[in-house]
Parts: sequence; C-alpha cells; structure tokens
Amino acid sequence: ERTEFVRYRDEPARTIDGVEFDLLANIALGTDLDVARENRAYGVGLYRTEFPFIVRDGLPTVDEQVRIYAKAYDAFPTEPIAFRILDLAADKFLPSMGFGASRSAFHGYRSIRVLFDYPHILRDQVQAFAMAARGRPLRILIPMVTSVDDVVRIKRLVAGALAQATPSLSTGNIVYGAMIETAAAVELVADVAREVEFFSIGTNDLIQYTLVVDRDDPRLASERHSYHPAIWRMIRRVVVEAHRSEKSVTVCGEMAAKPDLALALLAMGVDALSVTPRAIPPLKRALARMALEPLRAMRDEILALATEDEVLATLRGCSSETS
Ligand code: PEP
Ligand code: MG
Repeated sequence: ERTEFVRYRDEPARTIDGVEFDLLANIALGTDLDVARENRAYGVGLYRTEFPFIVRDGLPTVDEQVRIYAKAYDAFPTEPIAFRILDLAADKFLPSMGFGASRSAFHGYRSIRVLFDYPHILRDQVQAFAMAARGRPLRILIPMVTSVDDVVRIKRLVAGALAQATPSLSTGNIVYGAMIETAAAVELVADVAREVEFFSIGTNDLIQYTLVVDRDDPRLASERHSYHPAIWRMIRRVVVEAHRSEKSVTVCGEMAAKPDLALALLAMGVDALSVTPRAIPPLKRALARMALEPLRAMRDEILALATEDEVLATLRGCSSETS
C-alpha cells in the first residue's frame, strides 16, 4: 500500500483517461505544510489563517504572523499559495474578543463582517501577508463574500493597510480570489469576476447556507448533502460564469477529497481541487483509476436529476475504479 502511494506521489494528478488537474492542499497548521510537501501538493489552495488567532488570548502580532506565513513560502517557494483572510465564525472565534461562541455567528456576524468593524485586525494580517511574501506573488482569498461591495471594500482596506506600513508595501504582486460559499455569491459570480482573478468554492459553507444545515450539528450531518442537486447546479453555474470571464475555479470544501465527488467536480469543469494534505495520496490514486470522459458526457443528465438519491446513484455508478 505504502509503496503504491509513493508511486502515485511523483506522478501528476490525472485520471485514467489522461485528464490532468491541479491537486492542492488545505493548510491550517504548520505541520500540514510538511505533509502537503511530502505528498507533493501542487500548492496551497486554501491557507486557513484562523488557528493562531483562536488558540490564545490576544491577537498574534504582525511579526508573529509574518513568521507563520513565511513558513508557507518556505514550503512552497514557487507554487501558488492562497492565503485566506481571517474567517472567524461560530466554529472558529476569538476567545479574547468577547464574541463568545455565539451560535448566531454562523448567521450574520462573522468573517469579513467582523473585520469591517475591527479593521486593525485586517490591517495587521495583510501587512504580515505582504511582508512574508517579500515581493513574491501573494494570493489573497476573500471569504464569505455576499456582494461585489464586499470585495471592493476588502481590496480598498488591503491597499490602505499596505500603504500605511513603514516602509510601505507594494500591492503590485497581489492576486485576489473570492470564496463562493453563499447563494448571493453564486448569483453574482460574473460581477465578482470583474474584481478577482480566481474563485474557490467552499462547499462546506455553501451546503450549510443553501440547505440550512448547521455544519456542527451532528443531528443534521449527512454525506447525502454533497449529492443535493441544488449544490451541483450551483457548482456548474459558478464554473460556467467564471470560465466565461476566464477565471479559474477551485473547490476547497471537504467534498473535494471524496473520489466520486472529486471526479464529478472535474466533470463539471472545476479546474483544481484543494484537500486536506493527508487525503492527497489516496485521492490521487483513486482518480488515477477512474475515467472522466464518461461522466463528462453525462454532465447535463446529472444536472437534470432532481433528487439526492438519483445523483448519488449516478455518481457512484460512474466512479467505479478500473486498474
Ligand atoms: C468551506 O466553507 O467549504 C471552506 C473550505 O472553508 P471552511 O471550512 O474553513 O469554512
Ligand atoms: Mg467556509
């Protein structure tokens, strides 16, 4: 088993019928970077920055953040790294700021909305991103987007923060991306595309907010949500609109790590998958034994299905492995 993983590790990610795709890593801890490198991630599709903020009392300083973010550049010096702006939510909140772990933080007061009220947190973070980048490409991923204004406002705050730094930092190396995690963002992809260079679909939250299923409530947990026809139609719509604007689409939710779903995401036209680093070898191995073309040919049929059962049966039926 282990030697087999090693064999796939050094191959590009591709399906048995030769379709190549980018397989990136989701990072939350420094140790994730080691695993991601070891497993030959193509880069970091989602760098979750919340951890150093939520494990302590008080905010990490700019210098501390620079040291943390620089480790990502050490691990992936020339590969793309998408640093996500601090995405506080009910499942990841600042103990020191008195927000508490209010459940309502899933529904409204979270993420960039908090940062609009506490702009110094955003300022410090983006200064740290830019210092860690040292002029190298800096991909900034904006979470929980619900409007074009969100993106414009964040970009303005980032530019202001970098101008304020001493010495001032350049915005010339920055590439912006928007996370698609809400129905509003799905509707507005073509408009948001004028403000960003890439999209990343956060299916964990897209499912939570579309199907009204609290992601932390075990009573509502079901793998069937990932087969909901509304979710697949949304994903396809995002891909079509993004590609029309020549912008790429990554999927960075947990869905991307399951072989049958990953194959279907590629069939929908998704350009890249970003998964927890430990999932890279088994996912690569599974997809290397699956054919994409038959599923691609069925894309419109799949999108016309109306129930989770039908989607599940169809995707499972099309993802059998051949060796
Ligand atoms: C998501 O929502 O799918 C996502 C990737 O972000 P997070 O799980 O950190 O909210
Ligand atoms: Mg999310």
